[in-house]
Amino acid sequence: MKKTYQFRIYPNKKQEAKLNRTLSTCRHLYNDSLAERRRQAELNRIRREFDVFPWGYPKWINKYDQMLDLTATKTSYQKEAFSQVLQDVIKRVERSFKNFFNGFGYPRFQGRERYNSFTYPQKGFELDGKLNLSKIGHVKIILHREIEGKIKTCTIKKDIDQWYVSFSVEIDTPIIPVEIKTETGIDVGLKSLLTMSNGEQIEPPEFLRESQDKLKQEQKRLSRKKLRSQNRNNQRIIVARVHRTIRNQRKDFAHKTSRKLVDTYDHIVFEDLQIKNMVQNHHLAKSISDAGWSQLIGFTKTKAECAGKVVELVNPKYTSQNCSGCGNSVPKDLSVRVHSCPFCGLVLDRDHNAAINILKRSSSTVGTTGILSLPKQPQWRSNEAGSSRPLGGSSSPLLS
Ligand SMILES: [Zn+2]
Repeated sequence: MKKTYQFRIYPNKKQEAKLNRTLSTCRHLYNDSLAERRRQAELNRIRREFDVFPWGYPKWINKYDQMLDLTATKTSYQKEAFSQVLQDVIKRVERSFKNFFNGFGYPRFQGRERYNSFTYPQKGFELDGKLNLSKIGHVKIILHREIEGKIKTCTIKKDIDQWYVSFSVEIDTPIIPVEIKTETGIDVGLKSLLTMSNGEQIEPPEFLRESQDKLKQEQKRLSRKKLRSQNRNNQRIIVARVHRTIRNQRKDFAHKTSRKLVDTYDHIVFEDLQIKNMVQNHHLAKSISDAGWSQLIGFTKTKAECAGKVVELVNPKYTSQNCSGCGNSVPKDLSVRVHSCPFCGLVLDRDHNAAINILKRSSSTVGTTGILSLPKQPQWRSNEAGSSRPLGGSSSPLLS
């Protein structure tokens, strides 16, 4: 099982200069390697379109070619950086193309603001009270919690004026699955609200909302600054800092909430947000991702795995339209906050109804012995067929 630990590090002036230089060297290497791959991709596309191969069958440059090139033609800057760190940059280029072939965006060149990390993939780092980084030095680190397991990789990250290290760790202690006794279905709302199938709700802390208001203010200020002025640059940094605060607060909230959930329940059922995003329109999808639900679900998954518990994702289709009491379809648009069933008379909060439906979709085994093993694919297909949704279904928009 894999786990990530993040700590803040405190480089001195000299070390920070070296870190910055490594980052910049990596970014240049990234952009150069990317340019080479892009050029080649373009060329091959042209060749394919004309269906002639006067230069022979197109050969794709891969990461090994680029790594060999790197070793052969290292610049003086590149010699200052740890060699595996540079090789990792080429792996990143490869990954960005793989992602592209899997349907993500075309790999982009990285500006100074975007390219903010480099990785020691195997060696070159050591924890000995301080963080000993090859070619950088002994950097002060505060280990606020103990690291379990074997550290595999070490990634250094720059966040405006702060530096962080994250270790990816492999833990091979066997995990004993717990007997599933308690379970909950969770509806994640648009208003950063989380509703459980027992009707309980968790709201994000107030300060998160305050930071978001502050962000709006500062962004407004930024838009009023003159283009390419020093003032604008200063304001840009202020905005980035507010972004960081929000990110950290959100992460903290996600950690605490997921901990609470995993401590309380053995089997936790969420909506599959990937399906939800596909079904819903773009505007809604954005607010879902904004609310950081994927992060929360991710954290809950990891924590559950460690504890031998189960997180399941189910298809969110119709979860808010169907009645959790009788299964009939009760179409309603987003503004209707109360579910009121004309068939069985059930009246309850819209999100509460959805949460119960989400739990019902799961492969629940509470009450039976035996350990729940989950299929790789979410089981919603078979569950949906088994639900008592009336034939013909609902023709209303698929808002859930
Ligand atoms: Zn009903």
